[in-house]
Amino acid sequence: MNDLIKGIVINSIEYKENDAIITILTNEYGKIALYVKGYKKITSKNVYATQLFNHSNFLFDYNPSKSIQILKSANLIKQFSDIMIDYEKIAVASVICEIANAVEDNIYDLLFKTLTKLNDTDQIYLVLNVYLVSILTLLGISPYVDGCVNCGRTNNIESISIKEGGFICSYCNREFNDEIFDVDFLKNFRIINKASFDVYDTLLTLNLNDFKLTDMLMQILINYSGIYLKSYQSLINLNN
Ligand SMILES: [Zn+2]
Repeated sequence: MNDLIKGIVINSIEYKENDAIITILTNEYGKIALYVKGYKKITSKNVYATQLFNHSNFLFDYNPSKSIQILKSANLIKQFSDIMIDYEKIAVASVICEIANAVEDNIYDLLFKTLTKLNDTDQIYLVLNVYLVSILTLLGISPYVDGCVNCGRTNNIESISIKEGGFICSYCNREFNDEIFDVDFLKNFRIINKASFDVYDTLLTLNLNDFKLTDMLMQILINYSGIYLKSYQSLINLNN
């Protein structure tokens, strides 16, 4: 049986001389690995459809007992073309797709929404931050930002502890000695942790397009999920 399935290419590994194994995220089946013959040949008609970040229709015989399906053909539905011409957006999209590949849940809708917004905006770290917060919520590892995670005090918050998983007040921080942040950053960290794409238009008017927020959320994700992200280093390098 031929299955024609919509998917987003979230990973690509070159294989042998001209082939590749790509991973697509689909609404119906979650992640699927596809063997793409002739991936590297410029003349291949599948070449755009099977490129990283692209949204395409894929034709293959789905066999759930096999770990890799053989791609018959593919055609492009949408290329996120503004991502492809901006190296910083490519670095952000790489992190987004690597996370989508690492989590077990099917986040097809969230991924599609995130890449669409990344394509269309200059506030690339806002988009990444909202995505990361959605992932932290999904995994049940959101930081505690309604008071001090150690004592519950809601005043004199001065720090964020990765190890403790949330805000730390000035009294507890005598013991923890974590970095002290200014009030605006702490406020923004709280706002972003309550954010979602449902209120995206409002978020655009706030000052949340901040890589420092991204880095804090990434540290929480890496520490609590055990996900190893090799693409994140490029983004750190771009921001140094
Ligand atoms: Zn405290």
